[in-house]
Formats: sequence, structure tokens, C-alpha cells
Amino acid sequence: MFRKKNLQNMNDIVKSDSTNIEKNVSTNIEKIDQINVPKTISDKPHSMLDESKYTPDVLVDMIKKLDGHTIKPFFDTSKNKITYPFLANIGLDVTDEKSLANFVQEGILEKQLHEKFIVCSEHPNSLVTSVRVYCPSCNSMNVEKLSLYEHKKCGNIIESALLTSDIKSCPFCTHEIINFEKECRIPAMWYKCEDCSEKFDNATIKLYCREHNHDFDLSAPKFFRSFSYVLKDSLVTGKMASILIKKDVSKILERFKITPKINETLQGKSGNYHEIPLYGKSVDGKTDFMMFIFEKPEGIDDTDINKILITILDLEPMITIAVTTSEIKPGTKTIMEKYNIKLVQGDEMSIIKSKVEKILSAP
Ligand SMILES: [Zn+2]
Ligand SMILES: [Zn+2]
Ligand SMILES: [Zn+2]
Repeated sequence: MFRKKNLQNMNDIVKSDSTNIEKNVSTNIEKIDQINVPKTISDKPHSMLDESKYTPDVLVDMIKKLDGHTIKPFFDTSKNKITYPFLANIGLDVTDEKSLANFVQEGILEKQLHEKFIVCSEHPNSLVTSVRVYCPSCNSMNVEKLSLYEHKKCGNIIESALLTSDIKSCPFCTHEIINFEKECRIPAMWYKCEDCSEKFDNATIKLYCREHNHDFDLSAPKFFRSFSYVLKDSLVTGKMASILIKKDVSKILERFKITPKINETLQGKSGNYHEIPLYGKSVDGKTDFMMFIFEKPEGIDDTDINKILITILDLEPMITIAVTTSEIKPGTKTIMEKYNIKLVQGDEMSIIKSKVEKILSAP
């Protein structure tokens, strides 16, 4: 029980850190580009996996049901923010893109550019902008776009402010125009200012920063990027991300009164340190457990097992399991048996979980 309590305290520290980080971020204006993507799982501020009430495999199944297995952003113009409506389904704040960034870190999602658009360089987090057209001589916004078109049938040239699709008949010969593209030709287009009557080819185009009520020009554009988050291919086909396996097996270990530690570093007899993807020690101190995960489409061979043998021989755990969704080369199985490495092979989380349970239940 003692170790478990320690672990909870550690979680508390991580949580209080993350609230500080959040405070700093919000005072610095929330800017998606500024989000700190943590380098390792242990220093992450928080994660969908920790914060959501759903288990990893349920979350993955929910994302699988989305169009293109993708969590897409929604530009909420009323909030002037990019939101992720999916997050509301799992009880998280829709603006909490950090939780998605952590899912990327955990190897479950991939970040993709969704949209890139120009924003005000003074207010890059204010996303609502509009294009405005001005008269270059008097600066009025009361500018019309005009075009000349020739009705091929009668040869008359007509000036019009209408869009070509709105022109239904020729004002000279009154003939019905059914297909504008075929029946007419546009020899010229220009702008006309309704205030000063000036005609010009190029109107002054500016962008309007709606929230802060000012124009800005396009000479030094600042881009805003929004991102979508797509489920990793390997998860779409049913294979499991190692973080999901670690989290789910951790839960099983807890049921067997073994305290799990993900990505634990331990010192062996030789004095060397070893990193173990999932380590566990029973509450009574009698059992220790190590889990290694292999994913290699071409199959697991001796070299893969040799890499973990050093750790096993230096730390001598009571139970060692190797989890893989890949095939194992026949000779490699013999080596694993020799060193008492229990093989857990399966494509589905349910299979992996039941195999781990069976190993732990064995006397
Ligand atoms: Zn602005
Ligand atoms: Zn004008
Ligand atoms: Zn005509």
C-alpha cells in the first residue's frame, strides 16, 4: 500500500504543475503554436488517457467511428476560437488541444495540417477576419465590380454589375440567355467607386480584424494553422499502441496487487541502469514483473530478444513477459523459453489482457 500512496502523491504533483502551466499559458494568450508538447510521457501536463473517464481502447474505438478516423477542428466564430467538438464527447473542454497533443506523444494520433489562413499580425489569436475592398482614390468601401459582356448573337456590348449567373436575358435584343459562358464573352472587368465615380482596375484589398476593429494589409502576412488529429494507421487496423498496452496491463497488475510503473528506470546488479517499459512490484515485495513490447512487421527475431536479455539477466525479475502483435521467428521462441520470457501474442487488446491475466494467475 505504501508504494501505491507514493504513486498517488506523484500524480498530485504532476497535476498541480499542470494547473500552473495552464495559468501561464492563458495569461500569455492561448496560442496553439505555443503549446508545449512534452518530450516524454512522464513530464506531460495531462492526457486524454488520464483525464477522460474512458479507457484507452474505448477512446480508440470512438475515434475509429469518426469520419476518416480523424478528430477535426471546428472554427467557432462566436468564440473566435478553434475547438474540437469530439473532446466534449469524452468530458473534456473543446478548446483543450493539449490533450490531443499528448495523444500524439503517446503514439495514438498523428497531427496533420487542416487549414492555414491569414490572421492579423497584431492579434494572431483573433481568427475572425473579412476581406474589404476600397476605392484607391477616395478610400470609400462603396465599390462595385463591373464587367462588360458581349452578347454574341446580337453583338451588343453591355455594362453590368450583375454576376454572370444572374444575367438571364440580353437588354438589347431581349433574347433569353441560357448558357452565359457559351452565349457571351467578357472583354473587360473593372471596379467603380459609387462615391467618387472613379473607375479602376485594381481595388485596394485589405483584411479586417473583426474583434479589434481595424484593417490590416497583406504585405506581411501572419499565418494561423489549425490541425486535425488522425488515428494512427496501425490502430485503425486493430493493432495496439504500446502506451495502450502499458496502461491496460497496469490496471491488471493493480488487480493482482502489483504496483505498476510505466517506463521505469532501475539499477541492476552490475550497477548499470535499465529502462523497463512496464515494471511492477507486488505490495508484499515478493513478486516483480517486467513487460517488454515488440512491434516489427517483419517478425521478432533473436536480435530483438538479445536486447532485453541484458536487462533480464541484470535484474532477474520473477515474471517477464514479451507482448507483441507481430510474428515470432521459430528459433527465437526457443530462446525465450530458455530465459523464461512468457510470450503474449495477439492482435486485440482483449486477447493480450486475458493472456497476461493467465500468466499472473499461474502459481
Ligand atoms: Zn487585429
Ligand atoms: Zn472613390
Ligand atoms: Zn443581345
